[in-house]
Amino acid sequence: MAPTRNLITGGAGFLGSHLVDRLMQAGEEVICLDNYFTGRKANIQHWIGHPKFELIRHDVTEPIKLEVDRIWHLACPASPIHYQHNPIKTAKTSFLGTYNMLGLARRVKARFLLASTSEVYGDPEVHPQPESYRGCVNAIGIRSCYDEGKRIAETLCFDYKRMHNTEIRVMRIFNTYGPRMLPDDGRVVSNFIMQALRGKALTLYGDGQQTRSFCYVDDLIEGMIRLMKSDHTGPMNIGNPDEFTIQQLANMVRDRINSDLAIVHQPLPQDDPLQRQPVIKLAQDVLQWQPIVPLATGLDRTIADFKSRCSGDAD
Ligand code: NAD
Ligand code: UDP
Repeated sequence: MAPTRNLITGGAGFLGSHLVDRLMQAGEEVICLDNYFTGRKANIQHWIGHPKFELIRHDVTEPIKLEVDRIWHLACPASPIHYQHNPIKTAKTSFLGTYNMLGLARRVKARFLLASTSEVYGDPEVHPQPESYRGCVNAIGIRSCYDEGKRIAETLCFDYKRMHNTEIRVMRIFNTYGPRMLPDDGRVVSNFIMQALRGKALTLYGDGQQTRSFCYVDDLIEGMIRLMKSDHTGPMNIGNPDEFTIQQLANMVRDRINSDLAIVHQPLPQDDPLQRQPVIKLAQDVLQWQPIVPLATGLDRTIADFKSRCSGDAD
């Protein structure tokens, strides 16, 4: 049987590159497509030259013709500082990018997985969040380019399914962390680790009582692969239900690197969700999936990765 041909958009990014590794290790063919906005060749360079691996520099806001069996659509900046850098481009990436990749899926009859997000729930009034919750999203705020972009991307998926019978899988990813996050990514785990490694105070936004539920990248990718292989369209939450305040996370990072460091408070950004925790019963029932890496273990691995990449970084 011919190996499965995979297209991974955003494949040079944090999650995409871990997915590349898993599919390549399984002997599948992988086309990694990226415009390198937040992705890095370094994340996938160990596969360059492999006969089953191809790398394409391309922007998903433009159409492309390829012959593939599965499309893993991850292309989109995920960190607030990056997606707010050019919010109109972010909205275009979500809408046009998903439209172009769904068009490709329709033409070649590929199965299509959308990397959606817990941000479709906005600042949730329901806690924890099941897939049936329709969300509380500000349509006109600074996070809207991303949140609303992902919501319309989900809408497009379901309309392609209804109109063209395209095989879709919609995955709602909750905060994920791990090796290969960009040091200047702006997300909380990478910020705290880099600040602590540089001997600087940790920047806690607001009172630090807002919560997130952090999933280690290996667990997340396992859930993604199981969803793609399953018969379930989703939407499906994939995340770790262990919920922490951001203050607790700051303490955990500080305790691991330098417990003398100060924590400084900075204003809470506009529309920053107060709480977030996935209900993962659907993934447990349908995929027999649940996360297995606790935050403490995942942080140790992530800190080790940042140390090895950033040694000599004294700024
Ligand atoms: P990332 O920023 O590391 O990766 C995104 C990748 O997409 C990068 O390689 C970037 O260069 C590429 N990209 C961006 N715009 C593009 C465009 N127009 N054309 C082609 N490539 C483009 O982020 P990540 O954490 O790996 O996130 C991957 C996906 O998962 C995103 O769609 C994100 O919305 C989703 N997601 C991530 C998280 C998380 O916690 N990491 C949570 C929810 C959803
Ligand atoms: N945060 C923080 N300090 C930082 C970066 C982020 O306190 O240096 C907070 C942020 O306000 C939010 C939480 O950490 O409440 C998670 O932020 P992140 O950007 O990682 O993810 P998102 O808000 O998109 O879930």
